[in-house]
Amino acid sequence: MSSESPDLKLFIDGEWLGVQGRATHSVIDPATGRSLGELPLASAQDLDRALESAAAAWPGWRATPAVERGRLMRRAAGLIRERRERIARLLTQEEGKPLAEALVEVDGAAGHIEWMAEEGRRAYGRVVPGASSQLRQTILKQPIGVAAGFAPWNFPATTPARKLSASLAAGCCCILKAPEEAPATAVEIVRAFAEAGVPRGVVQLVFGDPPAVSRHLIGSPVVRKVSFTGSTAVGRQLATLAAQEVKPITMELGGHAPVLVFDDVDPGQVVALCAAAKYRNAGQVCVSPTRFFVHERIYDDFAARFAAAANAVQLGHGLENGTAMGPLANTRRLAAVADTVADLQRSGARLLAGGERLEGIGNFFRPTVFRDVPPEARAMREEPFGPIALLIPFRDEDEVIARANALPYGLAAYAFTRDAGRHIRLSEALETGMLGINTFTINGPETTWGGVKESGYGSEGASEGLEAYQVTKLVVQSSA
Ligand code: NAD
Repeated sequence: MSSESPDLKLFIDGEWLGVQGRATHSVIDPATGRSLGELPLASAQDLDRALESAAAAWPGWRATPAVERGRLMRRAAGLIRERRERIARLLTQEEGKPLAEALVEVDGAAGHIEWMAEEGRRAYGRVVPGASSQLRQTILKQPIGVAAGFAPWNFPATTPARKLSASLAAGCCCILKAPEEAPATAVEIVRAFAEAGVPRGVVQLVFGDPPAVSRHLIGSPVVRKVSFTGSTAVGRQLATLAAQEVKPITMELGGHAPVLVFDDVDPGQVVALCAAAKYRNAGQVCVSPTRFFVHERIYDDFAARFAAAANAVQLGHGLENGTAMGPLANTRRLAAVADTVADLQRSGARLLAGGERLEGIGNFFRPTVFRDVPPEARAMREEPFGPIALLIPFRDEDEVIARANALPYGLAAYAFTRDAGRHIRLSEALETGMLGINTFTINGPETTWGGVKESGYGSEGASEGLEAYQVTKLVVQSSA
């Protein structure tokens, strides 16, 4: 198990900046507790320099033809693909997920960039017939300006790639605030853009004290667009800051995904899919399946199989062969997950598997299954963001739809059933931004990614993801 040395730096105004007197943050391997290095944190002067550089770069970048922007972006994606093994190893070291998952994520990040590189060429406006033949009315789509993107630690390749690629494709510059806890992945993504030849100031990377950085960037008149992925609590704060400045914000926040398992499916097959999805990235996924509503006729069988699947998950360092689930990404999550489990036990829910941390070094928590979880348990309302599956029986379709919709969240939902009529009814009735029917695969660059209710607003991905970085301008010409 060989390790990689991260290159922990800021990237401001085309320059890589190291510690050089700056405050620092220790980056920790969550599987070993070992320090991976010291990350420099941006000072207020660094942030001002980044803002000036972005402001200076924008006119040139917006004037660069979309075809040329796309060419540079594809080159960046190509570099990421060439370096996939190193980037994935860095990701696993700092975030904990198994290498196989990290490789999928890095490939996916390149895929997002490639897709947006092409979509930038389709920033179509439209020509609208006027009230008189002498009038031509044109609706133009233009880049909004400099964007500030805030990315969390759980997907340190995908989230930066989504924010950078949509900004650049639209003709915007982007200042990315990447996660301090998993920074090396973002450094490598940004390096690919820099080495691909993206001009100085178009892509910049900062780390720092998150509230201070967000206040500074969102408060600056240079920034005209904000994109945040993270918790609903922080999203509220950033939305308030953005509202004061009348700046649009795309918010991809927390979720609490229900899974509706009807009695017309093969429980063995569905459990295998559910367990794989639940324990992916140790459950630290905003679209992680959480509340498993299972039809009462197959409930006992489903529960027993889920417990067996959880017990079979191999825990270990993500760089070790055979590891199916790594540690939780930080000690905050370890404490929060233990606390959630204690509350579930007090609530009367029945523990079927896991429920405890692994003794010894690293933030390992056993894959956990609870059945018969009462609505009063905190985990039924608050996002567990950890490897905890909650099983609840149900009897009929209307009842389970109402229970699925009962929370203020609406990011992802899933259903397993062979009934085509039910597919349509669920597609209409479930309050969610994304719905997977007989699948957990909902995350391509060509499709929308985002939630409803307190899970946020706006989309990343698809043409909607590009539009989020555009403004609309009407031009009316008269030949009279
Ligand atoms: P947190 O709410 O403290 O932070 C979440 C993310 O936001 C982190 O990356 C953090 O650096 C960043 N952040 C915090 N304050 C910020 C600010 N004022 N400005 C800009 N960024 C800020 O929680 P945490 O302990 O890091 O993570 C746990 C919770 O966060 C989970 O329960 C989950 O709900 C949520 N989360 C969601 C996602 C997602 O993909 N939607 C990702 C990571 C975390």
